[in-house]
Amino acid sequence: MQSLMAYRELYQATLQKWGVEAQYDQAVEECAELIATLKHLRRGRVDETAVADELADVFLMVGQLIYMLGEERVAAAVDRKILRLRELLASP
Ligand SMILES: [Mg+2]
Repeated sequence: MQSLMAYRELYQATLQKWGVEAQYDQAVEECAELIATLKHLRRGRVDETAVADELADVFLMVGQLIYMLGEERVAAAVDRKILRLRELLASP
């Protein structure tokens, strides 16, 4: 599987075609679809392939949002979250 940021040219083209607001709306929609599919998985109404499909949509939208917000800014936020998680795991 490619890195999220291997698709920068796709994210740029998407922004040029549909614009920033549409991409925020699409991100919200894809996240909602993943949430619904995870709930359906718990109830046995879908299989893991359906979850993988929705996860792929969210995967690409996360890449899109990182591209829009700036890779360095998001990387710094991830570093802070990882540090905090390591602290929590190390605490008794
Ligand atoms: Mg979807």
